[in-house]
Amino acid sequence: MIQNNTGAKIIGAYPYKHFANRGKIERILLTLKAYRETAKTIGHLQWYLFFTKGRFNKNYPVKTINAPLWERYKETCQWQVVGILKSFISNVQNKFTEVIINSSLSEYDKRILLYINKARKWLWHDKLIGKTFADKDTGTVYVITKGHLHLAKKIFKHILKKWKRPNLAKINMHLDDKVVKLHKKDISKAKSFDYWLKVSTAEKGKPVYVPLMKNPYVETLEEENKCNKKFLKFVQIVEREGDIFVYLLKELVRRNYIPKTDSISIDIGLTPLIATEFGDLLGRKFFEKLKEFDHKIVTLQKRLEDQGKRPTSSKRYKKLVARLRAYLKNEIKRCFNKLIKLYRPARIIVEKLDFKSPHLSKRMNRLVQLFGKGIITEKLDRLKQLYNIEIEEVNPAYTSQVCSNCGYVDSKNREDTQTFKCKACGLKINAQVNAARNIRHRSSVPEITIYTSKKVVLKILIERFLRTPLGSSYMELLSDNGGVNSSPPAFKIGSYLVGYLKSQTSSADKGINVYE
Ligand SMILES: [Zn+2]
Repeated sequence: MIQNNTGAKIIGAYPYKHFANRGKIERILLTLKAYRETAKTIGHLQWYLFFTKGRFNKNYPVKTINAPLWERYKETCQWQVVGILKSFISNVQNKFTEVIINSSLSEYDKRILLYINKARKWLWHDKLIGKTFADKDTGTVYVITKGHLHLAKKIFKHILKKWKRPNLAKINMHLDDKVVKLHKKDISKAKSFDYWLKVSTAEKGKPVYVPLMKNPYVETLEEENKCNKKFLKFVQIVEREGDIFVYLLKELVRRNYIPKTDSISIDIGLTPLIATEFGDLLGRKFFEKLKEFDHKIVTLQKRLEDQGKRPTSSKRYKKLVARLRAYLKNEIKRCFNKLIKLYRPARIIVEKLDFKSPHLSKRMNRLVQLFGKGIITEKLDRLKQLYNIEIEEVNPAYTSQVCSNCGYVDSKNREDTQTFKCKACGLKINAQVNAARNIRHRSSVPEITIYTSKKVVLKILIERFLRTPLGSSYMELLSDNGGVNSSPPAFKIGSYLVGYLKSQTSSADKGINVYE
């Protein structure tokens, strides 16, 4: 699945240190409180519109909305709320795709359900019954039936039910120029702050002026022409532990990027964070660092439990989780930047990622999954936008269990969690480098698309292996001797191959002796 560059603006949000006194902070916090109330009310209304009319409406007349803020503030709030809800629905849409791709549906049905998903017609669909579309390459014509639409609705509602809807009671303010204005330093005064941010408050006509200092990092970005000099007309005001944090927005400049490599395949995981098909291991200490975090989180969690407290009510716990998130973000960014510097690829081939490890606690696994996926998706999006790098996703089934050398598939092709060792040809290699090579291979095997089910992928892999010299010599030995003889090749036949052979011989029993 190749995602194209959208050409949309690329935006960076940067923190600017403020010098507002307590009184000003309090007034902004009160405004935030009213803003959140407003967001909640607007949220109810927008969900109602979504379920009855089929879509959110960011321009819904705010006069009719009963909320503690004045009109233009309500408008700003509504824009933000609809943005949040839309991105939530996009996530549901992505999840829908994942569910369909990993389902046991036929490829034909999968294509139809993905079509419905793409059109976002999960709920209001009568007009779609009988509609057809064709695949330009194969000429196959797909017909949407009532059954497809019914299934789409069921899956969509199931995901919606399972996922928590965005909590609008906790949002921060993303304000536009209807309610904030940035003023530059007054040069007539010797001692003055770099900027004054005029923030409208819940009390109409009584704004607060927040003094701000320059951000040196943004200045270097400007000097290197990596971002636009002008500020965008949006400001984010974030609340943390009773204080406010101000973020100003800049448009980033698309980089002049000349690729050096056509493409590179990578495996994203824990040991290391990124492995390339060429054997590079980027972020080798990633897992160790996660284990350190895990230890701290588990210890703190236990202590809180002993005190009868819930982790989410603890400031220390929240701080720790925030630090973990920041670490993940930095490390993922660093490793990808290194990858880009090393290879300057025009295309990156990846699979849907999975960050689970049996060596981390349940809670840690959840946190890493939760943050990691989002951060990586964001980073890949950014690479696409900034450098126009194509991101190609391939079918992930069995990429960690196939030998990239001989093609033999076995769940036991492992020495330990980090080392891949092939039971057939003896290849010993970092497990993720092996996976990265398989990912590369996937992108060149036309019969395995992202729609192919796991079962079919396995069958294709086994049949490919059996056609290789190693695979066929092995089969000969099996039928000659009625079992596994000595070398070569001498390896215990794995359960996948047993299953495959059984399915091939079940009708006419050839009496191949296989044992586990
Ligand atoms: Zn092998």
